Amino acid sequence: MIIAIISDIHANIEALEQVIDDIQKQEVDKIICLGDIVGYGPNPNECIEKLKNLGCLCLAGNHDWAALGMLDTSTFNRVAKHAIDWTKEQLTPNNLGFLQGLPLTQVEEGCLFVHATPQNPEKWGYIIAIGHARQAFQEFHEKVCFVGHTHYPFVLQQKNEEIYNVTKAEVEFEEDCRYLINVGSVGQPRDKNPDASYGIIDTEKNTFRFRRIPYPIQAVKEKIIQAGLDMILGTRLEKGT
Ligand code: ZN
Repeated sequence: MIIAIISDIHANIEALEQVIDDIQKQEVDKIICLGDIVGYGPNPNECIEKLKNLGCLCLAGNHDWAALGMLDTSTFNRVAKHAIDWTKEQLTPNNLGFLQGLPLTQVEEGCLFVHATPQNPEKWGYIIAIGHARQAFQEFHEKVCFVGHTHYPFVLQQKNEEIYNVTKAEVEFEEDCRYLINVGSVGQPRDKNPDASYGIIDTEKNTFRFRRIPYPIQAVKEKIIQAGLDMILGTRLEKGT
């Protein structure tokens, strides 16, 4: 089975459309979205509807929960909080209902899929240091766990309790290893590469690869300004930060 894994769309329909176009050329069997469909960007309803129409299997992210009022946003920075308040006003009742039905985790083809961390996914912890990764490896039992949340792509391999960063263009899964993979962000990449990021796993060939897709950032930037969202949300897209 070939599965495309997308995450952190953040209401960026321009990025999502380019990514979906690319996915459709890769002959995938399934698309899984790891959450944060909304928040930050100017097209929350359009992004939800696009994923709904594709029959994409979606999980919940912290921004989706925040838009539903299911998460205390006092820990959000001012810009993120303002974007969530704006998003709440935009979402249609149907699309709010869609977000409400999203699960926190999913197991498919022997892989675990989750937005933030395999342990207590509803606490939305961050995997940003090796200690977080070590803890995460203890909390799942599948061969591969896919996450998003930090908008920073990586492939970590665990072999005999040691953890390695794998930087190959195509990762071939080794027999006695387990993997923790962050697919990066479609709608707000933060690894200094502004192109939308997503990943493809082939469960027969036992491989994983990243795809980076350019999209018209300027158009999103203009929409952000028109919507009255903070300008920094547009400029950071150009820098990929
Ligand atoms: Zn996010």
